[in-house]
Amino acid sequence: MTEARDIIVIGAGAAGLMCAAAAAYRGHHVQLLDHANKAAKKILMSGGGRCNFTNLNSTPADFFSDNPYFCISALKRYTPRDFLELVERHGISYVEKEPGQLFCEESSRDIANMLLTECEWAGVTLSLSTTIASVTAWEQGGYRLETSRGSIEADAVVVATGGLSIPTMGATGFGYDLARQFGVNVLPVRAALVPFTFSGEWKTRFSGLSGLAVPVEARCGDGCYREPVLMTHRGLSGPSMLKLSTHWREGEDIVIDWFAGQDVLELLKQARAETPRRQLQTWLKAFLPHRLAAAFSDWYDMGGTLAALSNAQCLQISQHLSAMFLKPSGTEGWRTAEVTLGGVDTREVSSKTFEAVNQPGLYFIGEVLDVTGQLGGHNFQWAWASGVACGRAL
Ligand code: FAD
Repeated sequence: MTEARDIIVIGAGAAGLMCAAAAAYRGHHVQLLDHANKAAKKILMSGGGRCNFTNLNSTPADFFSDNPYFCISALKRYTPRDFLELVERHGISYVEKEPGQLFCEESSRDIANMLLTECEWAGVTLSLSTTIASVTAWEQGGYRLETSRGSIEADAVVVATGGLSIPTMGATGFGYDLARQFGVNVLPVRAALVPFTFSGEWKTRFSGLSGLAVPVEARCGDGCYREPVLMTHRGLSGPSMLKLSTHWREGEDIVIDWFAGQDVLELLKQARAETPRRQLQTWLKAFLPHRLAAAFSDWYDMGGTLAALSNAQCLQISQHLSAMFLKPSGTEGWRTAEVTLGGVDTREVSSKTFEAVNQPGLYFIGEVLDVTGQLGGHNFQWAWASGVACGRAL
């Protein structure tokens, strides 16, 4: 049995709840603080209200970080199967939507309640609506927090305050400020898993098709995804765009293949030979939703029969359809982003215990760290794995 310590976990989100329970089960006195009036707000709103709580196929390759090896140890020590075992123990029903992606069958609330129950069973003291004015370290070890509920002292502080996405849900830069205060480096942050916005004629064009989802192959930098794109009033969203946003930098083009890998030029030439009297737009409708086919005909003046197309025109059309270069004006930013890329530099944190290398007793877990998962349940898996690894190490 370890010696019982007084531990404060700041942030009652996915990682904080998991860590608090794991530490309290080890016999520590754990206080879990959050400035929000409710715990686990992001869990509750996640996965369209049904929380994509893990991904059975999750591997370290599904994570972005300046230090890609950091996440391996924790992910290995607490796997998607371990979390699933907990979910099953609590009798929560779930479904596998896409291969490996597990969602609650009923509601995200099941996962939030499960974590709160675990904290209660383990003896965690949860204090919501608690703002933290300052954190100071004593020379002899330990920390003092000045909070809206008075001063609290602790042997160790775990920072689980997450990233900057969705400020209306309680997201703050508190964890980054605290890291800097104690000399821990913070890498630049940017919004990710976020829809693209467009201006000018492309905004008008996509807005006119708002609500339409189309399977495409989309590329940007070293990212390439064959998944649906969704037209919105502001631009483009859907899984392919959200995933691509993790690769995109301001000013870059994204490239969309509306035929998702099919050889458009070959298909077009073959159709011209076999059905020369067919209208180009009619041919297009065999491959794309009718609204999109009509829009393409309009945007690129694609009237007339297939027979009227020269080889050069076939080539030009196939390029519009299979490699459309688009320059987003930006993203929807923190307002709708699912995650934050960047954050506390993992080179300055132990991958085993999550303690800051040069600041004994100060720990960082979850999304506040420079570890970001791809869409599909990987981010929660990181929250669980880092939370458990830290909680068990305390
Ligand atoms: P959070 O869960 O964000 O928790 C941080 C906590 O810290 C919050 O409770 C916050 O109130 C508190 N806090 C912040 N600042 C302070 C402060 N100054 N003082 C006190 N408390 C503070 N990931 C998936 O894997 N699957 C999904 O289905 C999924 N869906 C998502 C949907 C949406 C709309 C969003 C925004 C995100 C989604 N994510 C999903 C990402 C996932 O929610 C996060 O990666 C995960 O919640 C990070 O866990 P965390 O504990 O590090 O941070």
